[in-house]
Amino acid sequence: MPFIKLSADGQISLPLEIREKLGLKPGDLLSIEPTDQGLSVVPVAEQPHLSAKPILQESIARKNLETTMQFIRGIGPKLSEALAKKGIVTVEDALWLLPNRYEDRRALTPIARLRPGTTEVFSGEVLAADTVQTRGGKRFFEVIIGDGTATVTLKWFHYNLRYMKGIWKQGRRGIFTGEVAQYGYQREIHHPDVEWLADGESPAAAMERDPVSFGRIVPVYPLTEGLHQKTMRKVLKAVVDRYVASVGTSIPSEIAARHNLLPLDEALREVHFPASTDDLAPFNESRSTAHRTLAFDEFFFLELGLALKKQGVTMEEGIAFQVTHRYTRELLKRLPFPLTSAQRRVLSEIKEDMMAPHPMHRLVQGDVGSGKTLVALMAALIAAENDYQVAIMAPTEILAEQHYLNIHRWCEELGVRVTLLTAAMKGKTRSSALADIAAGTAQIVIGTQAVIQEKVEFARLGLGIVDEQHRFGVLQRGLLGKKGKNPDILVMTATPIPRTLAMTVFGDLSLSVIDELPPGRTPIETRVCPESRRTTVYDIIREEVAKGRQGYIIYPLVEESEKSDLKAATQMAEHLAWDIFPDLRLALLHGRMKPEEKEAVMAAFKNCETDILVATTVIEVGIDVPNATLMVIEHAERFGLSQLHQLRGRVGRGSGKSRCLLLTSGKLSDDGERRLRVMESTNDGFMIAEEDLSIRGPGDFLGTRQAGLPDFRVANILRDGRILEVARKEAFALAEKDPHLTMPENDRLREELPRRWGGRLELAGIA
Ligand code: ADP
Ligand code: MG
Repeated sequence: MPFIKLSADGQISLPLEIREKLGLKPGDLLSIEPTDQGLSVVPVAEQPHLSAKPILQESIARKNLETTMQFIRGIGPKLSEALAKKGIVTVEDALWLLPNRYEDRRALTPIARLRPGTTEVFSGEVLAADTVQTRGGKRFFEVIIGDGTATVTLKWFHYNLRYMKGIWKQGRRGIFTGEVAQYGYQREIHHPDVEWLADGESPAAAMERDPVSFGRIVPVYPLTEGLHQKTMRKVLKAVVDRYVASVGTSIPSEIAARHNLLPLDEALREVHFPASTDDLAPFNESRSTAHRTLAFDEFFFLELGLALKKQGVTMEEGIAFQVTHRYTRELLKRLPFPLTSAQRRVLSEIKEDMMAPHPMHRLVQGDVGSGKTLVALMAALIAAENDYQVAIMAPTEILAEQHYLNIHRWCEELGVRVTLLTAAMKGKTRSSALADIAAGTAQIVIGTQAVIQEKVEFARLGLGIVDEQHRFGVLQRGLLGKKGKNPDILVMTATPIPRTLAMTVFGDLSLSVIDELPPGRTPIETRVCPESRRTTVYDIIREEVAKGRQGYIIYPLVEESEKSDLKAATQMAEHLAWDIFPDLRLALLHGRMKPEEKEAVMAAFKNCETDILVATTVIEVGIDVPNATLMVIEHAERFGLSQLHQLRGRVGRGSGKSRCLLLTSGKLSDDGERRLRVMESTNDGFMIAEEDLSIRGPGDFLGTRQAGLPDFRVANILRDGRILEVARKEAFALAEKDPHLTMPENDRLREELPRRWGGRLELAGIA
């Protein structure tokens, strides 16, 4: 096994042995994605023209922005290393590192007028300085400063006594900055900044000595170890002064004017060093014109990419399916229930797309239990009726297997051949599955990521269905599309994605929403139970089983691969089986079991041969056993909201009344408390998603990186939702007017777009 070593700059080069094995030539394009097992490296078959020709004419400005920080005057190796730790390697990185907040240091405030709750700058003289010991035995260093109008107390709780005594000498004068707090009658400042005055120097003269830190609105940057505010400010001042002019504006002037945007270089200068006539508040709230300009700029490029992609897809030639009803009508006849009206509406939207001579790119959103699988199956049957193959991709083996079992059952009766393909399949089973897929005898192929691996060849792939999309990214969608000739793509997600986020992450897809649950479902009753009520929880489990129902007990695994966690889950299962429920039938299910074992455990549970399934989060998505009416989640405080909602969605799938008990242990964090209360108060996936987004923030919620989208440097989807909408409208309008960006006024856009998207444009299908 050859080893791969990261070079000093974090690059990897593949050993010859591997390159030969994969038949790779220099210049080939690889897609690298983190997976549960590690990294998956997939060669990308065709290389669109974009990568062949140099993407950009390297202008001088561009080169300037790529200057590494160590070449800037005043930055030595130590400082550049500290900066690199913060992700600041080039001038461009530095320019886009925005201040966290701003301090108003335009003028000094007399001490008598210092306002509690604000960061103030004032000058004064040290009247006294010494260590103080509280009655509780705590020590702190205290300094009294006076300026003739009043006095104020400075305090340090972490300090080096020798050093402090050395510098805080009575009579010494300085300029002090810090947040003023009020304790009773006393105003205090903890750990202030100081700039000492020289003998006889006036405060005004001292302020002029350091025009970066005084006499202006001063930026405060996010720091890491080894970096000081003052240094950061100096670095940024040097960078802004020397390089900001190299930043060009690519947004067409007409659009910029319509939304009152600044040129990009001006916006960057402002955002680092606001003019002294500016209002402080909009800067501190990231709502200044400069901030707005930067956010717009980022959103605009994202949306332009998505717009061109969407347009490209609709202009491309695709398969025009015909609806023959051969299989679909048969299936509907055999179903024990009618489709809900939401299912019918979404299906007709899908049909319309499939019949059009362009590839479908549609996202179906539906809460857990809304019946997405059936919609997917109907679409699959339409493709099968047209003699095309279908690939259904699920995020986990268990889910793929479950889909297989469900779908296989129906398809067998209809005479449609279904094949399972997972990474766990080896040897003969695997090779015969591959052969069936290549020959086209496998009409519907259900699998995990294994389906998009390079070895898998379809005879006639007409439709790709991706289930539970939030686990896959734009890139995988792209790879699936490459398995056929512009096949239709249908994406299914149970995560009700809030509008703003859906627009960003899935902005290139058309959206269908199944906004109705099948009838007869009673809402799940959810209760939070502290550890002290564990025996009550056990009683409830017993009650449910006595009624002939089944239940889940979920155990959190931080990492499915963590041995210690796994042990905890296994021990818990044993404890429950032997000590608590010796008379009930329990089974354990976790991610590290062999596929056959998992399948056997699931099948037994489905057939009602097991009363209680103790499981890890492997059952999170898609598992469907309507007789299960009880969900107990251990350590519920450790789960995120969406995950809790997904887990809870495993019950309440039949007409029986279902319950979800959230066991908690220890003291809950504020966020933990908030999550659990949300779960108690609603079953509505949309409300839960909105809450989740506001608790976690967008990056964490979906992971734009994982979704294959550019990261935002400035923009924040939550804060800047309005800007996103406007930028999107403009970008889509522009893409419609100039689909190939060939109009002269869009020259700069055409050059800038691929750069903003990195190498991701072509994989996302925009090229
Ligand atoms: P999800 O959207 O979470 O994937 P599923 O497709 O697993 O939901 O469906 C949940 C359950 O609802 C399944 O047992 C399925 O058979 C059932 N179901 C789907 N459509 C209907 C319907 N129109 N009427 C009644 N039950 C339905
Ligand atoms: Mg599902």
